[in-house]
Amino acid sequence: MQTNNTAIIEVENLVKRFGTFTANDNLTFKVYAGEIFGFLGANGAGKTTTIRILSGLSKPTEGIVKVVGFDAMKQSESIKKNIGYMSQRFSLYDDLTVIENIRLFGGIYGLSNKEIRNRSDELVKDLGIENLRKRLVGDIPLGWKQKLAFSIAIIHRPKLIFLDEPTGGVDPLTRRQFWELIYRVAKQGTTVFVTTHYMDEAEYCDRICVLADGQIKALGEPSNLKHEYQVTSIDELFYRIVKGEDRV
Ligand code: ATP
Repeated sequence: MQTNNTAIIEVENLVKRFGTFTANDNLTFKVYAGEIFGFLGANGAGKTTTIRILSGLSKPTEGIVKVVGFDAMKQSESIKKNIGYMSQRFSLYDDLTVIENIRLFGGIYGLSNKEIRNRSDELVKDLGIENLRKRLVGDIPLGWKQKLAFSIAIIHRPKLIFLDEPTGGVDPLTRRQFWELIYRVAKQGTTVFVTTHYMDEAEYCDRICVLADGQIKALGEPSNLKHEYQVTSIDELFYRIVKGEDRV
């Protein structure tokens, strides 16, 4: 994607502890405007903990975290207003229709009635789901629900969107279509920070960060990392890192 040298996320020595347990152990990295940045790790590696801090939902224990120019320690409310966030559970209301969900979230994101009307029309047209407008979200297929949740998460046109395992539980074809949507949005200039368990998806990212035991074990472009570790796939790279084998 079109990236530039402006850091939209700056993390320096981030530590997050829950009691005596360290979930994020001294993380330092930057994400640049326009990137698709993949955050990879096994269950419990600390991905959601980081994403919650970066999106202003939780405070760091230590370290410097700046997101879209705001300090996560002191300006989390400003961060929340300037980003999009799609959680693992999509956060849509199953008992509301598609259009009611769009209106509800448009309101939460502070759009005017006119903006909500215009953008909901655009959104359903863009996704090709005009015929689903009045269907309850609980009744639409998971793949559509996921695309809808994504489009709603960017209805206020944030510069940065966080996607926390957005493709969990969906079939490979739907995952591929979802990634086309990610590309489209990134091409329009939105920075995408995405966590995933699927290693094939890591290959679609501009840069990836591999997390294990709360620490960054590898960071870079997929092709460079494969070269550095002399592996043919990110799956192999991940296996090697998580298994703790040394670099060749
Ligand atoms: P998953 O892929 O399963 O979502 P993850 O990489 O997102 O995993 P986190 O949810 O960030 O992992 O959790 C990292 C570790 O921190 C886990 O061991 C988890 O049990 C612990 N943890 C997370 N939140 C809390 C909390 N509020 N209190 C105590 N421990 C927590």
